[in-house]
Amino acid sequence: MSSPNFESLGIASPVLKAVQQLGYEQPSPIQAQSIPILLEGENLLGVAQTGTGKTAAFALPLLSRVNSGQKKPQILVLTPTRELAIQVAEAFQTYARNMKGFHVLPIYGGTDMRGQLRGLERGAQVIVGTPGRILDHIRRRSLKLNELNALVLDEADEMLRMGFIDDVETILAETPDTCQRALFSATMPPTIRRVVKKYLGDAKEVSIAAKTKTVERITQRYLMVKGHQKMDALTRILEVEEFDGMLIFVRTKSATAEVAEKLEARGFSAAALNGDLSQTLRERTVNRLKKGQVDIVVATDVAARGLDVERISHVVNYDIPYDNEAYVHRIGRTGRAGREGQAILFVAPKEHRLLRSIEQSTRQKLAIMQLPTGEQVSGQRVQQFQDRILQDIETGKLDQFRPLLEKLAEENDISMTDIAAAMTWQLQLERPLFPKLVPLDTSNQGRSERRDRPDRNRPDRKDRSDRKNRPDRNERSDRPRQERSRKERPRNDDIEMVTYRMEVGKDHGVMPKDIVGAIANEAGIESQHIGRIRLEDDHSTVDLPEGMPKDIFNHLKNKVRVCQQPMRLSLPSSSLQKNHPASDKPKDKKSKDSQKPSQKRSPQKDTTKKQPE
Ligand code: AMP
Repeated sequence: MSSPNFESLGIASPVLKAVQQLGYEQPSPIQAQSIPILLEGENLLGVAQTGTGKTAAFALPLLSRVNSGQKKPQILVLTPTRELAIQVAEAFQTYARNMKGFHVLPIYGGTDMRGQLRGLERGAQVIVGTPGRILDHIRRRSLKLNELNALVLDEADEMLRMGFIDDVETILAETPDTCQRALFSATMPPTIRRVVKKYLGDAKEVSIAAKTKTVERITQRYLMVKGHQKMDALTRILEVEEFDGMLIFVRTKSATAEVAEKLEARGFSAAALNGDLSQTLRERTVNRLKKGQVDIVVATDVAARGLDVERISHVVNYDIPYDNEAYVHRIGRTGRAGREGQAILFVAPKEHRLLRSIEQSTRQKLAIMQLPTGEQVSGQRVQQFQDRILQDIETGKLDQFRPLLEKLAEENDISMTDIAAAMTWQLQLERPLFPKLVPLDTSNQGRSERRDRPDRNRPDRKDRSDRKNRPDRNERSDRPRQERSRKERPRNDDIEMVTYRMEVGKDHGVMPKDIVGAIANEAGIESQHIGRIRLEDDHSTVDLPEGMPKDIFNHLKNKVRVCQQPMRLSLPSSSLQKNHPASDKPKDKKSKDSQKPSQKRSPQKDTTKKQPE
């Protein structure tokens, strides 16, 4: 975990300032290793997946060498999907916020060329795009790469899986020989190795070593939860889970304060712990946790290093750690002094691979956690309410109130139960005994980052559900050019699939690659989660992970076209009993992987000090 700080890495000062403004405390392992190499102008092969901070690993050093006065493409980043292209472009914009005259342009298929042509004419130093559309522009000569300084291939294995590799090679061949090249990939299939050998030559390789350590006495669970629903999920867990002290890990200094404040506002006693606080303040916070003056501490990795507080019964990884070593360190903050500990990991759908990697390195399978249900939350609140009433009765301070209530009952001919019920109603107004909880999607399916990332510590990220600002979705997207054999696709045995029907078939000239491309781009479902496709004459069927959100289903049903034909996605009646948007059944009740919530930790103790009144 010993890692340099951002200041020592040598990135340009406007970029460093942006990193500081974002509250990044220290470089992630992939950043610490990649940034010096890329600053030196060397080629790089990064074996890393989403969530490790790889975007900043290439964006920060490459931006450091951009000439903002020169309005020609200097950096080109290729991504497999338009969603990733948008995200990477946004990340560049964020990191370049202090660079005057800087422009980044995302370029992807499925949208009108004219806007992109205008953008290219206006000039941008960084272009981020999907291979098909980038190639179109190169062929039209609207995009010239002769002054390109650096080319990045992001998620190269995904580009291979989506059939883009030929386009990628054609683009690589177009770039000047002097151009610096970096390739990032979560896995290293032979084709990618070949591309690296041919186009990146003597590239320096960086990968995050997975160290194996056993974590005993700590029960580890994970919850699939989208970024913007984490706070609601956490609140539910805190209501139902019996805990003593809790340490919650987030990625940024700003997030420690943000999460702690939100918890305080919800009635929990929480404090932030981060590297910005003075040593004295940090020590004070740790002491308050030790003494039980505060129950929850929200910390970054740096601030919680070596923390040893016996009463920490729970560690919650609110943001998944970058690497396995950090995970092992984090959860090691519980289970101290021979006690049992609980570790809970929040995993956004796209972070599935990081979860698998943690499981492999700790050689322990994490149990899937079911989010506490409304009934459980209710049960806990009712229990606390009863405990409180019984305690109040025991205090013996009620004598002067009894005659008051007896008089009220007699004069109005009402029962004591009615009076008690009315008082109960008043007491629980702020914190209802039978709350209506927001439905949370904890389904175990992989989707693109588009839906998972909005609040992943990118403070300036806009809500992507604002579809008005999105490109025209009626057009065909930047589809894979090459059909991919079904055998090549990894199986997803842990994901339950549902068969959908679409009204395009062989008669319309459709090929499986068209369907994969449309669904991957339009629904944000990663290609490896797209299952069997059957082509019939006038329609086709495709297997997709169960639990598709309603808005995506409706989008595919009403808006998306394949081979100029409306897709009209629907569920054959045989699939209707499955968990899917048309059935309107709550998802978490049906999840195949769900287990019964752990009853052994059922709420018993008096947790009133943690709870809002
Ligand atoms: P990526 O792997 O590039 O998709 O990044 C994952 C998330 O981590 C993004 O939300 C970034 O904003 C965030 N991030 C990247 N680097 C850091 C850092 N050094 N400290 C805190 N958060 C970071």
